[in-house]
Amino acid sequence: MEINISEAEWEVMRVLWSNSNVTSKLVIETLSEEKKWSASTIKTLLSRLVDKNILQTKKIGNKYIYKAIYSENDCLETLTKNFVGKFCNKKTKRIIEYAIEQDNLSKDDIEEILVILTEKLKNAKDIVKCNCIKGQCTCGNAKIK
Ligand SMILES: [Zn+2]
Repeated sequence: MEINISEAEWEVMRVLWSNSNVTSKLVIETLSEEKKWSASTIKTLLSRLVDKNILQTKKIGNKYIYKAIYSENDCLETLTKNFVGKFCNKKTKRIIEYAIEQDNLSKDDIEEILVILTEKLKNAKDIVKCNCIKGQCTCGNAKIK
């Protein structure tokens, strides 16, 4: 699955994921003041998301109801996978360290992560192999074409 969502479209998606029976009116009420976006800008963002097959729309009475095709969690997983994939395999550790340094983890979150890590440690590789094209990475292990 490919998810190509701009920064502005992402703000709209968050409204979709947080509410049911979303109309353009609700999105406009939620975002126009905070983001200083006009109603027509928001309607354009909604129709772009429909064109991209990220939103579905259905006419109920005289209103259009918008629904997200992908859940927030689907997007989180796909975008995280794509993001991590932009870097050398050897930089995954740094990405995780960075996320941890944001101090957005509760004690329970940390306990859960420790359980996952303890399980992963049992079958962990001694060395993570670089997956880069030679000339795209500084780790010195990039594969030669
Ligand atoms: Zn590499």
